[in-house]
Amino acid sequence: MSESKEPTTKIVKEIPTPDTILDVQQTTCCIVGGGPTGAVLALILARQGIPVMLLEAHKTFERDFRGDVVHGGGMELLEQLGLTDRLLEQIPHSKAKAIQYIIDGKTIPFVDWSGLKGTRYPYMTIISQVQLIQFLTAEAKRYPNFQLLMGANVQQLIEEDGIIRGVRYRGSGGWHEVRSHLTVGADGRFSPVRKLAGMELMETAAPLDVFWFRLPRHADEPEGLFVRLGNKRFLVTYNTYDGNWQIGYYILKGQYREIQAAGIEALRQSIVEVVPEWADRVQHLENWKDVSFLSIKVGRLDRWYREGLLLIGDAAHVMLPMGGIGINYGIQDAVVAANILIEPLKRGEVQLNHLAAVQRQRQWQIQFIQELQYFMQRQVSVKALQSGYAFKLPIYWGLPLWRDFIARQLAFGVLPPNVKLAYRL
Ligand SMILES: Cc1cc2nc3c(=O)[nH]c(=O)nc-3n(C[C@H](O)[C@H](O)[C@H](O)COP(=O)(O)OP(=O)(O)OC[C@H]3O[C@@H](n4cnc5c(N)ncnc54)[C@H](O)[C@@H]3O)c2cc1C
Repeated sequence: MSESKEPTTKIVKEIPTPDTILDVQQTTCCIVGGGPTGAVLALILARQGIPVMLLEAHKTFERDFRGDVVHGGGMELLEQLGLTDRLLEQIPHSKAKAIQYIIDGKTIPFVDWSGLKGTRYPYMTIISQVQLIQFLTAEAKRYPNFQLLMGANVQQLIEEDGIIRGVRYRGSGGWHEVRSHLTVGADGRFSPVRKLAGMELMETAAPLDVFWFRLPRHADEPEGLFVRLGNKRFLVTYNTYDGNWQIGYYILKGQYREIQAAGIEALRQSIVEVVPEWADRVQHLENWKDVSFLSIKVGRLDRWYREGLLLIGDAAHVMLPMGGIGINYGIQDAVVAANILIEPLKRGEVQLNHLAAVQRQRQWQIQFIQELQYFMQRQVSVKALQSGYAFKLPIYWGLPLWRDFIARQLAFGVLPPNVKLAYRL
């Protein structure tokens, strides 16, 4: 079993001397992390003629621990960037208009986006995150001022007089240096940049953990996102764009070792108890290598920046999996950062107040949605796990106003940003 396959970045204390550095490159904005957040920011900056380098530790964008859901809010922003038509034409995708609970054969509506007004995307778009990032970086590569470095594992920040002036990374043949006016850490939930900068995430342990895996889906099975409740187990399942079920198997925190010790056959059996019709396919989970484990945490930074450095996306705030909103909120961060920073970057004059403005626009919204996710997890997910077949949604969940509110918050947030008109295509 793999535990979130992030690149291992050992933070080295010893600073390499300049003669061990193979080359030094100069850019205006150095973005660490080629996830959705870093890729969107890089693309918008590249289009504005700003020299930008995107550094990704992996050699390819292939990773299976990622989610593949983009909500209406993210799709609206990609549309403002003139991308959605081609994106949806080129990349296989599916749509889920609602999340439904399936308890003892009965279907109960939980969140429904289909009634949302004022959006062309009243649904979740299920699209390969890998292909989404490949698409975004291919777009950015059309601009000569953009450079993508794959296999560039950032392990040091360059700090001079308390100001971050770029990064050092391990890449082909050894150490390399990138000097930049602004460094952006978009390097995910375990953000090495955050650690290197001495910034600490305020973390709250979540009450649940999740196993993450896929099983084949038959073409005649229903499409959509279902929470399938069994006896003290629940599976979040959705049909992927490539003919499978993506499954999140939720457990109470602390049960991980017990479940692993019981063995893969016990896991298979417990899946069949929840979804009997999958007895014909659970053998596809041959061993624990086919199952990723995600220890769920939620957290955020108190301060997202230092002089010369900004953190955004999961690096600044780790979200709960509830509703699958991490990509959306990362794209929104990238758009807000671009809106605020493009002009100062063009002048080479990014000041602390610009970085603070990015945090000001985003932080309270992140805090709000994290609290809402936490509330939903306590009121629904944990109770569902504890009560099994006896579970009932809280009574207010039947109120259309409440359900609309939840749907809108998950898809857009309180005050969704827009790409500035001047930067749209
Ligand atoms: C199992 C699972 C399921 C999820 N499901 C969903 C979902 O359905 N919908 C949704 O919206 N969100 C989902 N999420 C969350 C979502 O994947 C994240 O919120 C989103 O990817 C955050 O984007 P990001 O670009 O900020 O960070 P990431 O996507 O984590 O990207 C960070 C990048 O930085 C790179 N990196 C790390 N360290 C270094 C380094 N030292 N040097 C260079 N590069 C480095 C990483 O390799 C990675 O490519 C899920 C997460 C998990 C773990």
